Amino acid sequence: MSELLQPQATALEVPQEQGLRPKTLSEYIGQESIKKNLDIFISAARKRKDPLEHVLLYGSAGLGKTTLAHVIAHEMNANIRVTSGPAIEKSGDLAAILSSLQEGDILFVDEIHRLNRNIEEVLYPAMEDFALDIIIGKGPSAKTIRLALPPFTLIGATTKISSLSSPLRDRFGNILHLDFYNHEDITKIITRSSKILSIPIQNDAAEAVASRSRRTPRVANRLLKRVRDMAQVHDKENIDNQTVEDTMKILGIDLLGLDAIDRLLLRTIIEKYKGGPVGLGTLSAATGEEIRTIEEVYEPYLLQLGFLNRTPKGREVTHMAREHLGLGGQKALL
Ligand code: ADP
Repeated sequence: MSELLQPQATALEVPQEQGLRPKTLSEYIGQESIKKNLDIFISAARKRKDPLEHVLLYGSAGLGKTTLAHVIAHEMNANIRVTSGPAIEKSGDLAAILSSLQEGDILFVDEIHRLNRNIEEVLYPAMEDFALDIIIGKGPSAKTIRLALPPFTLIGATTKISSLSSPLRDRFGNILHLDFYNHEDITKIITRSSKILSIPIQNDAAEAVASRSRRTPRVANRLLKRVRDMAQVHDKENIDNQTVEDTMKILGIDLLGLDAIDRLLLRTIIEKYKGGPVGLGTLSAATGEEIRTIEEVYEPYLLQLGFLNRTPKGREVTHMAREHLGLGGQKALL
């Protein structure tokens, strides 16, 4: 996966990554309709002194789902426990987490679509009735004992809502879709982060970083850090446009934020498969990128840009992508 898009920060970056996360709803930039919705849900739940109904957050990687889960916990004045679908290997693991929750706690399950179906079933009574069904013994003499759980809120996050089973999806009271950010909001995120990182950025430089940020806050913060490194190496007191240009050249990131892997994917479809349609498996084998990385990390932004179409037969490159890559006339040659 491209270094820019990796969700995990390196050990050295962790404290700063956390420092960049907004803590309250008012600090959280953009996603206005989600914030309005949440403001109402949260105020109502607090008035009733009830835990918030379960919340499902979905949207592409790096758009702020984890951040929002922490913001909700902060606004509810609740403790948050964090886990993820792939980290829960057995139903017993989930039962142990659930039974250790206190009243009003928030359980955040990232990548909830990757939870194994058998394990998922443990969640149904927990979400609906705040109960844990434990099976004791095996075979015909097996018995189910129901344990009461304290009322809690599950916040699930997913990049792939279509992979979530409908019984699980239906148990969420609030389903919120995080969309790609507009240019103005990404610029605000960059300016805010530069203040936290104590390196001023000129307005046109912030705009230039924003244009290459794939409309995604995580990418914006990553690029800003690389640009900051460049400014510091050259003893600049603030980040100017030239620093942004120089950094992007080294990183191989173009004006729209595409990196070498995006270009490889598009070029492969154009040059080897006549522009498509081509299946994801074939594309993965031809480029050496994992299917999941293509599907969850690269493709969403390429679809957003209108560079790629998803058809029942596979992925197709559009005319706009050809133009951007300077392969506009290529169609006739293929
Ligand atoms: P996800 O869980 O959707 O993959 P994260 O919540 O980890 O994304 O967000 C990635 C980074 O982007 C966070 O570290 C945070 O600093 C920043 N970020 C995300 N959303 C916002 C926002 N709305 N305002 C400011 N910064 C944000």
